[in-house]
Amino acid sequence: MKLIEKLNETIVNIPDFPKEGIQFKDITPIFLNPELYEEIIARFVENAKGKVDAVCGIESRGYLFGIAIAVALKVPFILIRKKGKLPPPFIGEKYDLEYGTSEIEMKTGHIKAGQRVLIHDDLLATGGTAIAAAKLVERQGAKATLFSFLIELEALGAREKIDKTGAELFSILKY
Ligand code: AMP
Repeated sequence: MKLIEKLNETIVNIPDFPKEGIQFKDITPIFLNPELYEEIIARFVENAKGKVDAVCGIESRGYLFGIAIAVALKVPFILIRKKGKLPPPFIGEKYDLEYGTSEIEMKTGHIKAGQRVLIHDDLLATGGTAIAAAKLVERQGAKATLFSFLIELEALGAREKIDKTGAELFSILKY
């Protein structure tokens, strides 16, 4: 069976969670199946090989695959965390949500100037979080050259925003 078919059978769509109108993609059953997990990592690694010097994972589901991708690529992994979790020194970036704003933070000194960076998360929705993560990388003299996601929600138009940054966007499953 193809990877995409396996994922379609495994990922569960939860309507109206955490609020009405959201089709929440529950990826937790993936972690019951180590062979499927390995296949997902292999697909991400195959695409990213030779293209990046560091991987940034977005809290918290961006860590689930991000660390394994970084280890397989033999490059550093850097955590992007929600506001208030990291000890200093760090920098933060605010971004818009559907209602209100949010903020993510990253330790300074972990990314090196000139590095090509992969921004990774489980799911691409509006792209707000991923673009804010790329800004944190760029403020440190590095460049987000690749974005990768297990799932891309195409209707929300994030691909256009990422294309504008000149970076590559790789997603395994599109809805
Ligand atoms: P965005 O900044 O709009 O691209 O949102 C991406 C972040 O929100 C990711 O960290 C996702 O884990 C989470 N997210 C957004 N929409 C969904 C959804 N429908 N199902 C699961 N997670 C979601």
